[in-house]
Amino acid sequence: SDVPSNDDGDVEPPPLAGPNVMNIILVAAECAPWSKTGGLGDVAGALPKALAQRGHRVMVVVPLYGDHDELQDTGVRRRYKVGWEDVDVQYLQTYIDGVDFVFIRCHMFNNLGNNIYGGNREDILRRMVLFCKAAVEVPWYVPCGGVCYGDGNLVFIANDWHTALLPVYLKAYYRDNGLMQYTRSVLVIHNIAHQGRGPVDDFSHVDLPPHYLDLFRLYDPVGGEHFNIFAAGLKTADRVVTVSHGYAWELKTSEGGWGLHNIINENDWKLRGIVNGIDTKDWNPEVDLHLTSDGYTNYSLSTLDTGKPQCKAALQKELGLPVRDDVPLIGFIGRLDVQKGVDLIAESVPWIVDQDVQLVMLGTGRPDLEQMLREMENRYPEKIRGWVGFSVKMAHRITAGVDILLMPSRFEPCGLNQLYAMSYGTVPVVHAVGGLRDTVQAFDPYNESGVGWTFNRAEAGQLIRALGNCLLTYREYKQSWKGIQQRGMTQDLSWNNAAQNYEEVFVAAKFQW
Ligand code: ADP
Repeated sequence: SDVPSNDDGDVEPPPLAGPNVMNIILVAAECAPWSKTGGLGDVAGALPKALAQRGHRVMVVVPLYGDHDELQDTGVRRRYKVGWEDVDVQYLQTYIDGVDFVFIRCHMFNNLGNNIYGGNREDILRRMVLFCKAAVEVPWYVPCGGVCYGDGNLVFIANDWHTALLPVYLKAYYRDNGLMQYTRSVLVIHNIAHQGRGPVDDFSHVDLPPHYLDLFRLYDPVGGEHFNIFAAGLKTADRVVTVSHGYAWELKTSEGGWGLHNIINENDWKLRGIVNGIDTKDWNPEVDLHLTSDGYTNYSLSTLDTGKPQCKAALQKELGLPVRDDVPLIGFIGRLDVQKGVDLIAESVPWIVDQDVQLVMLGTGRPDLEQMLREMENRYPEKIRGWVGFSVKMAHRITAGVDILLMPSRFEPCGLNQLYAMSYGTVPVVHAVGGLRDTVQAFDPYNESGVGWTFNRAEAGQLIRALGNCLLTYREYKQSWKGIQQRGMTQDLSWNNAAQNYEEVFVAAKFQW
């Protein structure tokens, strides 16, 4: 056939022509594999590649938190004012899978390691001011492949409050001065719970003309009058995207908008929900690098019957749990935070340990919840493992080895673990909220449809009921179980769909539809 294909054998979309090819710069506080604390890092690592595959020129700008040998110094040096301090910045870069990755090195980020959001409020704010000031200038000063991006057909994608200053700087430093008139900015909401709130005095750190203060000033019954960076970004960006339709809807309610719902409602015309994809090189049981040793194995739909049980046995062995194929193995992976509903799992433990099941939980976060994981393991060593730590390798192995993944999140903008689970033939049991509602269609035994179990309120009783039905199907209805796994594994969860939707947003921003 004359359809061009890349070396994976995937069919590539036809290249875009002429004026629709965009210069795209995604700016984020974290980017996998160099830095990651959660889903944002995964998105920053993967969405740009999908956009590049569709024919665009794409760059990611991210702070450098440690040293990475593969990065090249561009030789570009700049100095930025952050409050009273002049901060020297270096730009490093690399080029991978069609994407220019540009790293901003300065003393503020050096040695933070994985503690990306560490430090006091003022320190974090000053870091983000520096980062956004440096990032907005990248298209002018940092040549990639010898040529700077410039501002032709340029769109910035900013992410969460950390980079919500970028659309504001684009306007204040450039557009208000008649420059970069055709550059657009899109702000993506991955999580509205963190907003960059502070006292109104924080305005002195952001280096903007006085009339910009009103963009940031917000009043709400909880915080009173305060300074809010996300608010300014939402008002200023040309378009706003969030990571699922369910979350887009929730953001407009007073419970889901965390004080920003009025602003989001006023800007509804520019808001769109686009569900994240998954990086099908990284999270693919067929080629997953973490499944190539210690008794694990790569598998696909056609080898599911042997491959997944082998991974399960390897996981049980690695965790020191009894190696038994017939016992349902249940997993949880995530930040230990009330958001993730870990406490609901803890509340369900008395019921869970009454069943013939095994449970493994991997996470880091709130010290009391970490302690709770350890206690659960100590109390029920034959049935429960509580792994306190951040281990990408274990996350992959658990995703492959468990039968069932629990996600009782109280709110979940998109959620990636349920997507990873489904593509590994692991069945998700989720609270139907935000992106979980969008992506996990409930199993319907009458039509043999659906890909998991859902429950409607974040309560232990509801979790137990859904999990109970799931376990019953696992034990008694093997054909149905297989169907659920198959449907999960054959969904197109790749980033290409999402990238196409982002493209529509860029075009709408460009022509101001
Ligand atoms: P969030 O961004 O709210 O943390 P997501 O589900 O969108 O939640 O993304 C979480 C990402 O972080 C997934 O890739 C998940 O595997 C990873 N992750 C979370 N906790 C851990 C951990 N303790 N070890 C390894 N990976 C983790």
